[in-house]
Amino acid sequence: MNGVLVILEYRDGWNRMSWEALAAGQQIAAQTNQPLMAAVAGGKLDDAALELADKPVARAFAVRHALLDEYTADGFVAAFEQLVATLSPRLVLFPHTYQVRDFAPRLAARFGQSLIADVIAINRESGQPVFVRQLLQGKLNADYLHTATGPCFAALQAGAFRADTLTGGRCTVEEFVPHIEASQIRSQPGERFRESAQTVDLTAASLIVSVGRGIKEEANIPIVEELAAALGAELAASRPICDNGWLPMERQVGSSGQTVAPKVYFAIGISGAIQHLVGMKGAKTIVAINKDPDAPIFEVADYGIVGDLFEIVPALTEEIKHAR
Ligand SMILES: Cc1cc2nc3c(=O)[nH]c(=O)nc-3n(C[C@H](O)[C@H](O)[C@H](O)COP(=O)(O)OP(=O)(O)OC[C@H]3O[C@@H](n4cnc5c(N)ncnc54)[C@H](O)[C@@H]3O)c2cc1C
Repeated sequence: MNGVLVILEYRDGWNRMSWEALAAGQQIAAQTNQPLMAAVAGGKLDDAALELADKPVARAFAVRHALLDEYTADGFVAAFEQLVATLSPRLVLFPHTYQVRDFAPRLAARFGQSLIADVIAINRESGQPVFVRQLLQGKLNADYLHTATGPCFAALQAGAFRADTLTGGRCTVEEFVPHIEASQIRSQPGERFRESAQTVDLTAASLIVSVGRGIKEEANIPIVEELAAALGAELAASRPICDNGWLPMERQVGSSGQTVAPKVYFAIGISGAIQHLVGMKGAKTIVAINKDPDAPIFEVADYGIVGDLFEIVPALTEEIKHAR
Protein backbone atom coordinates (compact mmCIF):
# COMPACT_ATOMS: atom_id res chain seq x y z
CA MET A 1 0.00 0.00 0.00
CA ASN A 2 1.34 3.36 -0.96
CA GLY A 3 0.05 6.77 -2.01
CA VAL A 4 -2.66 9.30 -1.27
CA LEU A 5 -5.66 9.04 -3.61
CA VAL A 6 -8.05 12.02 -3.73
CA ILE A 7 -11.47 11.32 -5.22
CA LEU A 8 -12.77 14.50 -6.85
CA GLU A 9 -16.34 15.43 -7.76
CA TYR A 10 -17.45 16.65 -11.18
CA ARG A 11 -21.08 17.12 -12.24
CA ASP A 12 -21.44 19.68 -15.04
CA GLY A 13 -18.39 21.35 -13.49
CA TRP A 14 -16.13 20.82 -10.50
CA ASN A 15 -17.37 20.87 -6.98
CA ARG A 16 -15.03 23.51 -5.47
CA MET A 17 -14.53 21.30 -2.39
CA SER A 18 -12.63 18.90 -4.66
CA TRP A 19 -9.68 21.31 -4.76
CA GLU A 20 -9.71 21.73 -0.99
CA ALA A 21 -9.45 17.94 -0.68
CA LEU A 22 -6.66 17.86 -3.27
CA ALA A 23 -4.78 20.60 -1.39
CA ALA A 24 -5.07 18.54 1.82
CA GLY A 25 -3.91 15.47 -0.08
CA GLN A 26 -0.94 17.37 -1.45
CA GLN A 27 0.14 18.37 2.08
CA ILE A 28 -0.13 14.84 3.49
CA ALA A 29 1.56 13.28 0.48
CA ALA A 30 4.49 15.71 0.88
CA GLN A 31 4.70 15.19 4.65
CA THR A 32 4.61 11.38 4.39
CA ASN A 33 6.68 11.19 1.23
CA GLN A 34 4.03 9.37 -0.79
CA PRO A 35 2.80 9.95 -4.35
CA LEU A 36 -0.37 12.02 -4.76
CA MET A 37 -3.07 10.61 -7.05
CA ALA A 38 -6.45 11.98 -8.11
CA ALA A 39 -9.50 10.43 -9.73
CA VAL A 40 -12.83 11.58 -11.07
CA ALA A 41 -15.72 9.40 -12.26
CA GLY A 42 -18.38 10.01 -14.87
CA GLY A 43 -19.63 9.27 -18.34
CA LYS A 44 -18.52 12.47 -20.06
CA LEU A 45 -15.19 13.56 -18.68
CA ASP A 46 -13.43 15.29 -21.59
CA ASP A 47 -13.51 18.78 -20.04
CA ALA A 48 -12.77 17.43 -16.57
CA ALA A 49 -9.75 15.47 -17.86
CA LEU A 50 -8.36 18.58 -19.57
CA GLU A 51 -8.50 20.57 -16.34
CA LEU A 52 -7.22 17.68 -14.27
CA ALA A 53 -4.11 17.59 -16.46
CA ASP A 54 -3.11 20.95 -14.88
CA LYS A 55 -3.00 19.56 -11.36
CA PRO A 56 0.11 18.71 -9.37
CA VAL A 57 -0.40 14.97 -9.02
CA ALA A 58 1.80 12.00 -9.80
CA ARG A 59 -1.08 10.08 -11.43
CA ALA A 60 -4.59 11.16 -12.41
CA PHE A 61 -7.47 8.95 -13.52
CA ALA A 62 -10.62 9.59 -15.52
CA VAL A 63 -12.84 6.73 -14.34
CA ARG A 64 -15.10 6.53 -17.34
CA HIS A 65 -18.19 4.42 -18.05
CA ALA A 66 -21.57 5.13 -19.64
CA LEU A 67 -23.24 3.81 -16.47
CA LEU A 68 -21.48 6.57 -14.48
CA ASP A 69 -23.03 9.31 -16.61
CA GLU A 70 -25.71 9.83 -13.96
CA TYR A 71 -24.55 9.47 -10.37
CA THR A 72 -25.69 6.36 -8.49
CA ALA A 73 -24.17 5.00 -5.30
CA ASP A 74 -24.04 1.49 -6.80
CA GLY A 75 -22.17 2.67 -9.89
CA PHE A 76 -19.68 4.86 -8.03
CA VAL A 77 -18.96 2.23 -5.38
CA ALA A 78 -18.34 -0.42 -8.06
CA ALA A 79 -16.07 1.89 -10.07
CA PHE A 80 -13.99 3.25 -7.19
CA GLU A 81 -13.74 -0.17 -5.56
CA GLN A 82 -11.92 -1.39 -8.67
CA LEU A 83 -9.69 1.70 -8.79
CA VAL A 84 -8.75 1.50 -5.10
CA ALA A 85 -8.08 -2.25 -5.39
CA THR A 86 -5.82 -1.58 -8.41
CA LEU A 87 -3.88 1.34 -6.91
CA SER A 88 -3.76 0.11 -3.31
CA PRO A 89 -3.35 3.58 -1.77
CA ARG A 90 -2.67 4.03 1.94
CA LEU A 91 -5.09 6.94 2.22
CA VAL A 92 -8.24 7.80 0.21
CA LEU A 93 -9.53 11.36 0.67
CA PHE A 94 -12.85 12.85 -0.44
CA PRO A 95 -14.51 16.26 -0.17
CA HIS A 96 -17.40 15.83 2.31
CA THR A 97 -20.13 16.55 -0.25
CA TYR A 98 -23.68 15.20 -0.24
CA GLN A 99 -22.72 12.73 -2.98
CA VAL A 100 -19.70 11.50 -1.03
CA ARG A 101 -21.84 11.02 2.09
CA ASP A 102 -24.01 8.77 -0.04
CA PHE A 103 -21.44 6.37 -1.49
CA ALA A 104 -18.16 6.69 0.44
CA PRO A 105 -19.21 4.80 3.62
CA ARG A 106 -20.16 1.80 1.48
CA LEU A 107 -16.93 2.05 -0.50
CA ALA A 108 -14.94 2.05 2.75
CA ALA A 109 -16.96 -0.93 4.01
CA ARG A 110 -16.00 -2.90 0.89
CA PHE A 111 -12.41 -2.74 2.21
CA GLY A 112 -13.45 -3.59 5.77
CA GLN A 113 -12.95 0.05 6.84
CA SER A 114 -15.16 2.86 8.08
CA LEU A 115 -15.21 6.38 6.66
CA ILE A 116 -13.79 9.11 8.90
CA ALA A 117 -16.30 11.78 7.88
CA ASP A 118 -16.47 15.54 8.36
CA VAL A 119 -12.75 15.96 9.10
CA ILE A 120 -11.83 19.56 9.99
CA ALA A 121 -8.06 19.17 10.37
CA ILE A 122 -5.29 16.63 9.90
CA ASN A 123 -2.45 16.61 12.44
CA ARG A 124 0.46 14.23 12.65
CA GLU A 125 1.56 11.89 15.41
CA SER A 126 4.70 9.78 15.00
CA GLY A 127 4.50 10.40 11.26
CA GLN A 128 0.90 9.14 11.06
CA PRO A 129 -2.03 11.38 10.09
CA VAL A 130 -4.44 12.13 12.94
CA PHE A 131 -7.91 13.17 11.74
CA VAL A 132 -9.83 15.75 13.80
CA ARG A 133 -13.65 15.68 13.91
CA GLN A 134 -16.01 17.81 15.93
CA LEU A 135 -18.46 16.26 18.37
CA LEU A 136 -21.45 17.63 20.30
CA GLN A 137 -22.09 20.66 18.06
CA GLY A 138 -18.43 21.64 18.08
CA LYS A 139 -18.00 21.55 21.85
CA LEU A 140 -15.41 18.75 21.61
CA ASN A 141 -12.74 17.83 19.10
CA ALA A 142 -12.00 14.12 18.70
CA ASP A 143 -8.77 12.71 17.22
CA TYR A 144 -8.94 9.62 14.98
CA LEU A 145 -5.86 7.57 14.24
CA HIS A 146 -6.16 4.85 11.59
CA THR A 147 -4.66 1.69 13.11
CA ALA A 148 -6.39 -0.99 11.01
CA THR A 149 -4.64 -2.72 8.14
CA GLY A 150 -6.05 -1.67 4.79
CA PRO A 151 -6.59 1.76 3.30
CA CYS A 152 -7.83 4.67 5.40
CA PHE A 153 -10.87 6.58 4.06
CA ALA A 154 -11.54 10.17 5.17
CA ALA A 155 -13.89 12.94 3.95
CA LEU A 156 -12.96 16.59 4.54
CA GLN A 157 -15.40 19.27 5.69
CA ALA A 158 -16.01 22.27 3.37
CA GLY A 159 -13.67 25.16 4.13
CA ALA A 160 -11.43 23.16 6.48
CA PHE A 161 -8.58 23.21 3.93
CA ARG A 162 -7.69 26.02 1.57
CA ALA A 163 -7.74 25.31 -2.14
CA ASP A 164 -5.38 28.26 -2.79
CA THR A 165 -2.50 26.38 -1.13
CA LEU A 166 -2.59 23.93 -4.04
CA THR A 167 0.60 24.49 -5.96
CA GLY A 168 0.61 24.13 -9.72
CA GLY A 169 1.78 21.22 -11.82
CA ARG A 170 1.01 18.99 -14.77
CA CYS A 171 0.13 15.37 -15.21
CA THR A 172 -1.08 12.84 -17.73
CA VAL A 173 -4.66 11.76 -17.15
CA GLU A 174 -4.98 7.98 -17.48
CA GLU A 175 -8.21 6.31 -18.57
CA PHE A 176 -9.61 3.77 -16.13
CA VAL A 177 -12.58 1.83 -17.45
CA PRO A 178 -14.25 -0.13 -14.65
CA HIS A 179 -16.29 -3.24 -15.28
CA ILE A 180 -19.89 -2.39 -14.38
CA GLU A 181 -23.07 -4.23 -15.41
CA ALA A 182 -26.41 -2.43 -15.70
CA SER A 183 -27.89 -5.05 -13.35
CA GLN A 184 -25.58 -3.81 -10.56
CA ILE A 185 -27.28 -0.38 -10.52
CA ARG A 186 -30.35 -0.79 -8.35
CA SER A 187 -31.51 2.84 -8.25
CA GLN A 188 -32.99 5.01 -10.94
CA PRO A 189 -31.71 8.62 -10.79
CA GLY A 190 -34.51 11.20 -10.63
CA GLU A 191 -34.42 14.78 -11.81
CA ARG A 192 -31.49 16.71 -10.34
CA PHE A 193 -32.17 19.08 -7.47
CA ARG A 194 -31.46 22.69 -8.39
CA GLU A 195 -30.84 25.44 -5.89
CA SER A 196 -33.37 28.25 -6.22
CA ALA A 197 -31.94 31.47 -7.65
CA GLN A 198 -30.69 33.74 -4.91
CA THR A 199 -32.18 37.19 -4.71
CA VAL A 200 -30.05 38.38 -1.79
CA ASP A 201 -26.35 38.52 -2.56
CA LEU A 202 -24.69 38.46 0.85
CA THR A 203 -21.32 37.89 -0.78
CA ALA A 204 -21.17 41.54 -1.81
CA ALA A 205 -22.19 42.97 1.61
CA SER A 206 -19.55 44.87 3.56
CA LEU A 207 -21.46 44.74 6.86
CA ILE A 208 -23.45 41.74 8.02
CA VAL A 209 -25.51 41.24 11.19
CA SER A 210 -26.06 37.49 11.55
CA VAL A 211 -28.42 35.90 14.02
CA GLY A 212 -28.56 32.41 15.51
CA ARG A 213 -30.71 30.24 17.71
CA GLY A 214 -29.84 32.40 20.72
CA ILE A 215 -32.61 34.74 19.51
CA LYS A 216 -35.03 32.08 20.82
CA GLU A 217 -38.13 32.86 18.74
CA GLU A 218 -39.31 34.53 15.55
CA ALA A 219 -40.97 37.36 17.46
CA ASN A 220 -37.50 38.51 18.58
CA ILE A 221 -36.04 38.89 15.07
CA PRO A 222 -36.85 42.66 14.96
CA ILE A 223 -34.19 43.14 17.69
CA VAL A 224 -31.46 42.21 15.20
CA GLU A 225 -33.27 43.80 12.27
CA GLU A 226 -33.04 47.13 14.09
CA LEU A 227 -29.31 46.72 14.64
CA ALA A 228 -28.83 45.86 10.96
CA ALA A 229 -30.89 48.89 9.91
CA ALA A 230 -28.94 51.22 12.25
CA LEU A 231 -25.65 49.97 10.80
CA GLY A 232 -26.85 49.81 7.19
CA ALA A 233 -25.95 46.12 7.25
CA GLU A 234 -27.44 43.05 5.56
CA LEU A 235 -29.23 40.60 7.83
CA ALA A 236 -28.05 36.98 7.75
CA ALA A 237 -28.58 33.88 9.86
CA SER A 238 -27.39 30.47 10.91
CA ARG A 239 -29.17 27.46 9.47
CA PRO A 240 -31.71 26.77 12.26
CA ILE A 241 -33.15 30.26 11.82
CA CYS A 242 -33.71 29.64 8.09
CA ASP A 243 -34.86 26.05 8.64
CA ASN A 244 -37.51 27.42 11.01
CA GLY A 245 -38.61 29.90 8.35
CA TRP A 246 -37.84 32.90 10.58
CA LEU A 247 -35.66 34.35 7.79
CA PRO A 248 -35.53 33.26 4.13
CA MET A 249 -33.14 30.48 3.11
CA GLU A 250 -31.15 32.88 0.95
CA ARG A 251 -29.95 34.62 4.12
CA GLN A 252 -28.25 31.50 5.46
CA VAL A 253 -24.50 31.64 5.89
CA GLY A 254 -22.42 28.48 5.98
CA SER A 255 -21.49 25.31 4.17
CA SER A 256 -25.03 24.86 2.82
CA GLY A 257 -25.67 28.60 2.55
CA GLN A 258 -23.68 31.56 1.28
CA THR A 259 -19.96 32.18 1.85
CA VAL A 260 -19.40 35.77 2.86
CA ALA A 261 -16.38 38.01 3.40
CA PRO A 262 -17.64 41.36 4.76
CA LYS A 263 -15.53 43.98 6.50
CA VAL A 264 -17.47 43.32 9.72
CA TYR A 265 -19.57 40.27 10.64
CA PHE A 266 -21.68 40.38 13.81
CA ALA A 267 -22.44 36.84 15.03
CA ILE A 268 -25.30 37.19 17.51
CA GLY A 269 -26.42 34.14 19.48
CA ILE A 270 -24.49 31.86 17.11
CA SER A 271 -22.45 29.03 18.64
CA GLY A 272 -19.87 28.75 15.84
CA ALA A 273 -20.44 25.24 14.45
CA ILE A 274 -17.93 24.38 11.72
CA GLN A 275 -20.67 24.44 9.07
CA HIS A 276 -21.35 28.07 9.99
CA LEU A 277 -17.69 29.07 10.39
CA VAL A 278 -16.73 27.93 6.89
CA GLY A 279 -19.17 30.47 5.48
CA MET A 280 -17.95 33.51 7.44
CA LYS A 281 -14.44 33.02 8.73
CA GLY A 282 -13.14 35.06 5.78
CA ALA A 283 -14.71 38.20 7.32
CA LYS A 284 -12.15 40.88 8.08
CA THR A 285 -13.46 41.56 11.58
CA ILE A 286 -15.76 39.24 13.52
CA VAL A 287 -17.75 40.51 16.50
CA ALA A 288 -19.44 37.77 18.52
CA ILE A 289 -22.15 38.21 21.14
CA ASN A 290 -22.87 35.05 23.09
CA LYS A 291 -23.74 34.28 26.70
CA ASP A 292 -21.55 31.15 26.73
CA PRO A 293 -17.88 32.12 27.23
CA ASP A 294 -16.84 28.72 25.83
CA ALA A 295 -18.82 29.04 22.59
CA PRO A 296 -16.53 28.08 19.64
CA ILE A 297 -17.42 31.34 17.86
CA PHE A 298 -15.05 33.14 20.26
CA GLU A 299 -12.13 31.18 18.78
CA VAL A 300 -12.53 33.07 15.48
CA ALA A 301 -13.89 36.36 16.89
CA ASP A 302 -11.77 39.52 16.91
CA TYR A 303 -14.11 41.11 19.47
CA GLY A 304 -16.11 38.96 21.86
CA ILE A 305 -18.93 40.13 24.11
CA VAL A 306 -19.97 37.53 26.68
CA GLY A 307 -23.50 38.34 27.73
CA ASP A 308 -27.21 38.30 27.04
CA LEU A 309 -28.00 39.47 23.51
CA PHE A 310 -31.39 40.76 24.70
CA GLU A 311 -29.54 43.35 26.82
CA ILE A 312 -26.55 43.99 24.57
CA VAL A 313 -28.12 44.29 21.10
CA PRO A 314 -30.76 46.98 21.94
CA ALA A 315 -28.09 49.02 23.82
CA LEU A 316 -25.72 48.71 20.84
CA THR A 317 -28.46 49.77 18.42
CA GLU A 318 -29.20 52.87 20.53
CA GLU A 319 -25.52 53.82 20.68
CA ILE A 320 -25.15 53.45 16.91
CA LYS A 321 -28.26 55.56 16.27
CA HIS A 322 -26.85 58.30 18.55
CA ALA A 323 -23.44 58.15 16.92
CA ARG A 324 -24.88 58.54 13.41
C1 LIG B 1 -24.79 18.96 6.49
C2 LIG B 1 -24.96 20.14 7.39
C3 LIG B 1 -24.91 21.39 6.83
C4 LIG B 1 -25.07 22.52 7.65
N1 LIG B 1 -25.00 23.75 7.08
C5 LIG B 1 -25.09 24.83 7.88
C6 LIG B 1 -24.97 26.15 7.33
O1 LIG B 1 -24.82 26.35 6.12
N2 LIG B 1 -25.04 27.19 8.19
C7 LIG B 1 -25.21 27.04 9.54
O2 LIG B 1 -25.27 28.05 10.26
N3 LIG B 1 -25.35 25.81 10.07
C8 LIG B 1 -25.30 24.71 9.27
N4 LIG B 1 -25.45 23.48 9.82
C9 LIG B 1 -25.89 23.38 11.22
C10 LIG B 1 -24.75 23.55 12.21
O3 LIG B 1 -24.16 22.29 12.46
C11 LIG B 1 -25.28 24.09 13.56
O4 LIG B 1 -26.30 23.24 14.03
C12 LIG B 1 -25.84 25.51 13.44
O5 LIG B 1 -24.90 26.37 12.82
C13 LIG B 1 -26.14 26.03 14.83
O6 LIG B 1 -26.78 27.26 14.72
P1 LIG B 1 -26.73 28.30 15.91
O7 LIG B 1 -25.32 28.64 16.23
O8 LIG B 1 -27.65 29.40 15.55
O9 LIG B 1 -27.44 27.50 17.11
P2 LIG B 1 -26.83 26.85 18.42
O10 LIG B 1 -25.69 25.95 18.11
O11 LIG B 1 -27.99 26.29 19.16
O12 LIG B 1 -26.22 28.10 19.20
C14 LIG B 1 -26.99 29.09 19.81
C15 LIG B 1 -26.03 29.96 20.58
O13 LIG B 1 -26.75 31.05 21.15
C16 LIG B 1 -26.20 31.30 22.42
N5 LIG B 1 -27.24 31.97 23.20
C17 LIG B 1 -28.41 31.45 23.69
N6 LIG B 1 -29.13 32.39 24.31
C18 LIG B 1 -28.41 33.55 24.24
C19 LIG B 1 -28.62 34.86 24.72
N7 LIG B 1 -29.72 35.21 25.38
N8 LIG B 1 -27.67 35.79 24.48
C20 LIG B 1 -26.52 35.48 23.79
N9 LIG B 1 -26.28 34.23 23.32
C21 LIG B 1 -27.22 33.28 23.54
C22 LIG B 1 -25.82 29.94 22.98
O14 LIG B 1 -24.82 30.08 23.98
C23 LIG B 1 -25.33 29.24 21.74
O15 LIG B 1 -23.92 29.38 21.59
C24 LIG B 1 -25.28 22.36 9.03
C25 LIG B 1 -25.31 21.08 9.59
C26 LIG B 1 -25.16 19.99 8.78
C27 LIG B 1 -25.17 18.62 9.40
